[in-house]
This record gives sequence, C-alpha cells and structure tokens, in this order.
Amino acid sequence: MIPVSSVSVTEAQRRLVNEVLDSGHLVQGPVVERLEACGREMTGAAHAIAVSSGTSALELAFEAVQLGPGDEVIISPFTFVATLNAALQSGADVRFADISEIDFTIDPDALRAAMTDAVRVVTPVHLYGLAADIDAVRSIAAHAGALIIEDAAQAHGATFDGRPVGTAGLAAFSFYATKNVFAGEGGLVTTDDDDLADVIRILRNQGMRARYDYDRPGHNHRMTDLAAAVAVPQFDTFHDAIAARRRNASLLSEGLADIDGLVLPATPDRREHVWHQYTVRVTAAARVSRNELISRLADRGVGSGIYYPAAVYDYQCFRDHPRVEVGEGCPVAERVATEVVSLPVHQQLAESDVEQVIDAVRAVLS
Ligand SMILES: *Cc1c(COP(=O)(O)O)cnc(C)c1O
Repeated sequence: MIPVSSVSVTEAQRRLVNEVLDSGHLVQGPVVERLEACGREMTGAAHAIAVSSGTSALELAFEAVQLGPGDEVIISPFTFVATLNAALQSGADVRFADISEIDFTIDPDALRAAMTDAVRVVTPVHLYGLAADIDAVRSIAAHAGALIIEDAAQAHGATFDGRPVGTAGLAAFSFYATKNVFAGEGGLVTTDDDDLADVIRILRNQGMRARYDYDRPGHNHRMTDLAAAVAVPQFDTFHDAIAARRRNASLLSEGLADIDGLVLPATPDRREHVWHQYTVRVTAAARVSRNELISRLADRGVGSGIYYPAAVYDYQCFRDHPRVEVGEGCPVAERVATEVVSLPVHQQLAESDVEQVIDAVRAVLS
C-alpha cells in the first residue's frame, strides 16, 4: 500500500538522538535551541520558541494576547480541531469566515464581512501547505486593529510574495509525526514581537522567569531534546524535501488532468506550495462518489485520506458550545468537506509510486 504519509528516519537523526541520550540534557536544552535557530531561519522571524506540540503553540499564542469574555476570534472553518480548541481556550467567542474553494484557506471577502469591533484575533490556516492570502488578511486585520495568529502547522516553508509564512503576528507550527518536518510531538511559535515572545517563553515553563521566580501562572509546554533531535537534521534536507513534493505534485497534476468531476489543487499567483497534502475534490460530476473512489484506490494499493470530513464547528459539542458562534454557517467549507481526498505526494514516493497513484485514479474515474 502506498501510504498518504510516511515516517522515514535517517542515520543523522538516530545519531543526534543518541547524542542527546548520552549528553544527559533531555529537555529544553541545546538541541531544542538548535531547532529554534532552524525555525528562525525557516521563517525569517526574530523569535522561534519550541514547545511540546502544535496545539500548545496555538494555545500559548492565544493566551499571550490575553483575550476574555466579549472578545472575538475569527478562524478558518476548514481545519483540524486544534485550531478551534486553542481559540476556545483563550476565553473569547469564536466565529468563522468561510474559505475559498480554490485554495481551501480563508476567503478575504468572507473575512471582511465577518469583522466586528470585537474581533481581536484573526486565524488563517495555511492548509495543506499553501499560504492563505496573507496580504489581504493582514490589511483586513490591521484595519480592525486585530492581531493575526497563523495556523502554520502544515506549512513549513510555504511562501507568499517570496516571504515564508510565520511573521504576520504570531504563528504556530507543528512537528507532529505526519507533518512536513516531524519530531513525533513538538511545535514552534514564531513572531517578530519581542514582548509576546517573552511572554510565550515564560508561559511554556510554569510562568517562570528564572528558577522559582514566577512571573505569572503558566504551563509545562516544554519540548524535549529527544524530539528536537528527530527534527533538526531534517532542516539540512528541507529544500530537497519540498522540491521532491513539488515534483510529485506536478506529476500528479499532469497525469490527472481532464478527468470529469475531478478538481485538481491550484497554486494561486504569488504563493509557493509546500504540498503537505495533494488534495483533489471529487464533485457530483465524477463517475463514482468520493467514498467509492477511496475504497477502490485502496483495492489498487493506493492510500488516501480525508482532511477534513466536516467543517470544524459541525459537531454537536461545538454547535452547543456557548462561545462558538456558527451563525449561518460556511457553505463553501461544508460542501468542500464532502468532496476532498488527499493523495500521496510525500518525498518518500518513487516516480513509479506516483504513476501508480495516477493510473489508479484514472482507472476508477474514467
Ligand atoms: C497538526 C495540526 C495542528 C496541531 O498540531 P499538533 O502538533 O498535532 O498538536 C493544528 N492545526 C493544524 C491545521 C494541523 O494540521
């Protein structure tokens, strides 16, 4: 079976993990600092703060900006649940601005229409490795005096106008096992803001500025050097991995062109995609349903995945939540959630694997 994501560990990673074990410095030590340097280089941000997961990166970002009752956060509705959970932890009300079906990220027109005086934070999600229209989001947020917290969990190295994501305000990256750069569990907050960076560093470690000198109530969201040692060597081959994903994506787009009912992923002008996922839409015009496609691909040895099967608010626990405001809903996100399928695109694929994916999809849909 060709998997939709694959974890492959190199000799360099094993060596660094062993060095950490031998060093005795297992948590928030020198290898975590190396990872933070990699994070600054990847984004160009002044600060990169390593934490225990992408979710804790989001939670600390939301906590640092100090929201409370009556404040509003607007997030993309087409995302992993961590975005919504972290926004809710802030204490604010959470609303949604619909996505564009072209790029699967927040639609600037929908965002503009959703803004109110109470909005303090806007959270675009750079989904599947493609930056949101960060220029438009920036100007809409700035106009309203709102801060941007980017969910960049899937978008290591993705760019807009040649600039990597991660510097629009606060940004959260993930090093979860399936992400483009992985540690097992781990995350990173990036920002150019010195004061917010200081608060996040303190919040990550029990609210402590120096040993037993407590500045505020905090958490244990520290990252281990063992996890950082898995991630750090991947930055030596970072651009090769993106190039391999890009080559696979372009082979897929060539091979899958002109199939009825199959909409291929677009890369809008001014953006460079890093292809965390290669996600197609199976519309009503296709020969078989999405679920039929998935099961017939599996029969042919091709793995696939649905990210995500519903708009993030479309569960009873969120529809009933007193601080989640669904309103009229987000029709584009709700429809797209019924259409998307992600196909294997990762850098471990051989060209023959990509051909097998193309042949399988063609066989089922044409
Ligand atoms: C993976 C992911 C997260 C959460 O990251 P973890 O490291 O798993 O906590 C948040 N948002 C999005 C869009 C993700 O894909």
